[in-house]
Amino acid sequence: MDFTRGRFAPSPSGRMHLGNLFSALLAWLSVRAVGGTLVLRVEDLDPVRCQPAHAWQLMEDLEWLGLTWDEGGGVPSYWQSNRGARYAAAFETLRAKGLVYPCFCTRLQRLNEAPHGHEISSACPCAALTDQEVAEHAARRPPGWRVRVPSRSISFFDGCQGAYTQDLARDCGDFPIRRWDGAWAYQLAVVVDDGAMGITQVVRGRDLLSSTPRQLWLYEALGLTPPEFYHVPLLLAPDGRRLAKRDADLDMGVLRRRYTPEALLGLLAKLSGQQETAAPVSAAELAGRFTWTAVPREDIVVTQDLLA
Ligand SMILES: [Zn+2]
Repeated sequence: MDFTRGRFAPSPSGRMHLGNLFSALLAWLSVRAVGGTLVLRVEDLDPVRCQPAHAWQLMEDLEWLGLTWDEGGGVPSYWQSNRGARYAAAFETLRAKGLVYPCFCTRLQRLNEAPHGHEISSACPCAALTDQEVAEHAARRPPGWRVRVPSRSISFFDGCQGAYTQDLARDCGDFPIRRWDGAWAYQLAVVVDDGAMGITQVVRGRDLLSSTPRQLWLYEALGLTPPEFYHVPLLLAPDGRRLAKRDADLDMGVLRRRYTPEALLGLLAKLSGQQETAAPVSAAELAGRFTWTAVPREDIVVTQDLLA
């Protein structure tokens, strides 16, 4: 019995594509290889972009591929849209520590459009508003909320990317945790949830590497134990773009017509360095010989001949 607890944390904003599967497979293998527990949490914070139908579809797609989980999935309490009370409690903890301030910048109104993006933040002038100015602004429209980060260097060792360091004030800046309309920010929700669910290992795309120091700081501020992190390479289209949900030719609908589960796993196993060729393989076989040392660090270009 191993105490590793990993997770799938998909956002149900559309059908999964090859890049999502690549991260999901590595998360699954890393946990299954050591006999740990896998949690599936649905990250449906944004009610406009996320639909329950997509969540059910992506669970069915994972099962088709043989990527099973032990907790969560269809259980309502594992859906972020049902976890607002926990985010509110964390928000109050941060506020009680004097770490939260209202922000009236227009940019914050669009907080969750790019939850993994680099919200401009260090230039936010709202940190210096007086109580009177806050009251004047708030009379016109409701604020969003930011946390005040210290000028401090945060370092951690990533299991895939190696050592990583960021100065919070310089490289990240005060970042949003709640939007004016009450929507919770990804950065807060992911830390609260991984903490509450006892997650010990996070495997995700390396686009989130730069978010990790601010999340580690949130773990500390909230008194939670952080997991270990593995930020895996992204899959890129031949023109260098990141594969995305709009690349419909690589979404699960198309992939399931073109491949058997074993053939698709074979392709993913080759891309992730787990075997020389794309020969068909089962998820269980891969778990039996999984190794992190073979996983590439750099992003991977998915060319047409790879898909043949
Ligand atoms: Zn502001």
